[in-house]
Amino acid sequence: MKPPSLQHLLLALAFALSCGLAQAVPEALMADDISPLRSMGEQMEAWVQRGEDVPEQVLAEIASQGPAPAGVPEAVWQRALQRTRGLVAARSGLEAEVRAAVAALQLLNSDGRNAQIQADQALVQALLQDLLGHAEMGAQQARSADVYYTQACGVRLPPADCEHRAWWRALRLMWLRAEAQGALVEAQGLTQRAQALAARADDALLQAWTLSGQAVISQALGDADAARRIMVQADRIARRSDSALALVRVRYNEARLALMQGDDRGGLRTMQEALALAKPLNSPRLDSQVLASLSDLLRRAGRAREALAAVERAYPVMKRHNELRGQPTLLHNGGLARLQLGQVAQGRSDLEDALAMWSDTGAKAAMESALREDSDALAALGDTHAALELYHREQALRADINKGNREAALAQQRERYRSEAEKRELDLLGRENALRASRLQTQALLERVWLLAAALLLLVAGVAVLLLKRARDANQQLRRSEALLKVQSERDPLTGLANRRHFREVLATLESDGGFRGALLLLDIDHFKRVNDDFGHQAGDTVLIEIAHRLGSSVRLNDLVCRWGGEEFLVYAPGLRDEGLTALARRMLHAVGDQPVRLEDGRDLTVTTSLGYACFPLPQHEVNLDWDRAVNLVDMALYTAKSMGRDRAVGLQATLAEDGDALVAMERDFEMARLSGEVQLRVDPRITAPVAAAGSGT
Ligand code: GH3
Ligand code: MG
Ligand code: MG
Repeated sequence: MKPPSLQHLLLALAFALSCGLAQAVPEALMADDISPLRSMGEQMEAWVQRGEDVPEQVLAEIASQGPAPAGVPEAVWQRALQRTRGLVAARSGLEAEVRAAVAALQLLNSDGRNAQIQADQALVQALLQDLLGHAEMGAQQARSADVYYTQACGVRLPPADCEHRAWWRALRLMWLRAEAQGALVEAQGLTQRAQALAARADDALLQAWTLSGQAVISQALGDADAARRIMVQADRIARRSDSALALVRVRYNEARLALMQGDDRGGLRTMQEALALAKPLNSPRLDSQVLASLSDLLRRAGRAREALAAVERAYPVMKRHNELRGQPTLLHNGGLARLQLGQVAQGRSDLEDALAMWSDTGAKAAMESALREDSDALAALGDTHAALELYHREQALRADINKGNREAALAQQRERYRSEAEKRELDLLGRENALRASRLQTQALLERVWLLAAALLLLVAGVAVLLLKRARDANQQLRRSEALLKVQSERDPLTGLANRRHFREVLATLESDGGFRGALLLLDIDHFKRVNDDFGHQAGDTVLIEIAHRLGSSVRLNDLVCRWGGEEFLVYAPGLRDEGLTALARRMLHAVGDQPVRLEDGRDLTVTTSLGYACFPLPQHEVNLDWDRAVNLVDMALYTAKSMGRDRAVGLQATLAEDGDALVAMERDFEMARLSGEVQLRVDPRITAPVAAAGSGT
């Protein structure tokens, strides 16, 4: 026989309670009409959106509101007003007004135990910190808002007076922060939670917005198929919703996605569409966000004058609303556009200002890519000295980020296991408490209606068994999907090679088994961007798949080949050195360059690669290194191969450095070290393949 479902048990319980036990019914179980609450939520959201552009006006309107409309409890109304006031003020950096709203919320929380109010307070402060560029502080506040909302609104069914938009905003801040720090798996998890929340609340705008953001993260994780699929879904929901804002948000993220896939032209076109769609909404604030990205795309397309115009339109708006987070991006884009237009002094000073702003707010990922672009721009202007300096700054920052990422990944994993266990425990504890409370009530009434109470106890026990069974099922499901996720997370979906994350795990494990040893070879396909530009992205993918296959066939059985980045491959060859290693490097050069790649339409395309390699511990003093430092060194060799004209292998054969510190000093001026013979390189171009001792200066 099928056991009775939870719903049946609850119905029976409600029936039993209504038969003479009315005083035992908790308030939350009463079925209220929730439509007044829903329209209140919409009114608040409309204020938040208008407040983006005219905060003072909206704040005055909020201040002039009277008592709660019919059907809305007064306490809920007052809380919503103060939260909205705080949100509007926070989004324009009106700090005094934010403080006043937080204080007013505090007054509404007389016994200090209302988790929703605590959540609202944390959210308002999170938004303010984020806007002012204190991203980490903002994310921390958002995390505590999330904890309070979870406590107040429950994991499954938010009560009607739980504002899902507020909770969603906290989740969004968290995912943006994780994304900016490169913690992509975490960011993806957060978008999944935000998406579930928006779907539960049947909110099309937030669903479309979240999904389009999630698509971008999937692409960054290397899963282009998922990215496309999720973006299509976001687009469908936005179209069906009739919300112009939803369409703008989706278009905006679509443009980012196109850009990540190497489709610059499509990205530019889509971003211009986003701007056009935003026009009828009449929001300079929204325009400024789109313009910030558009200026970047225009500049990349060589349309510097238009890029500068976009910057000059958006900058005053961001400044007026104290948006310290968006300003450096604009300054950076404007600066690069000015360099292109020959306004060199002003351009450079804008770039320095932008770097300083990022550095103040700890936005490392943004700063890393900016440094790379700045370095390229200065090199193009012929200032190789300044370009090289920026290149070294980027190297140092990248090493720093890598280190941070590694630590964060470990911490994240630990935290996930801990918080899952904690959540389960909390869940059980909550259920246990509910059980205990209802048992106490039952006992008090036992004398009057002992028969009814006995039945009630039985029902409660039934509920508990069912709940426990559900918890167990959910747990099993979780474990199964975690196992699946692990397999998927080890492979790059395009080439089938190990992905960066898996590679990192293997090397980290080797290292913990007694220091990193073995050879590393880093390859980067030459002028690969041209393949995409001239033959299309699909052809680019075909080339990547073929090259991955060739590399896989040229290594030994126990070597590990991984897709390190877009068109970069990293090979770990244990126990290989000297002639054997050089031979492998040459073999790979020839495997890539000797035979053209056949495209799907039958055309043949010749591609070449540059390669940097070394074996560790590093000769001649056998310096021991962490594996990520080792990768950095090999990257320098690769950079040298590129700068010597590409299609060649550069091996780091020996250095005079006796320890890690000396090596750091040498890395800082690698070029100098090469010229002075402090480091000896072996250079093998593909075709002629003579042995030249470039490092010795001969
Ligand atoms: P260089 O010789 O200096 O390495 O020049 P490059 O053009 O190879 O280097 P760049 O880093 O400028 O360009 C790499 C390009 O690879 C940009 C990006 O669009 C493309 N790319 C990255 N991942 C993928 C992918 O998965 N598929 C395709 N088709 N292209 C990709
Ligand atoms: Mg590259
Ligand atoms: Mg390349």
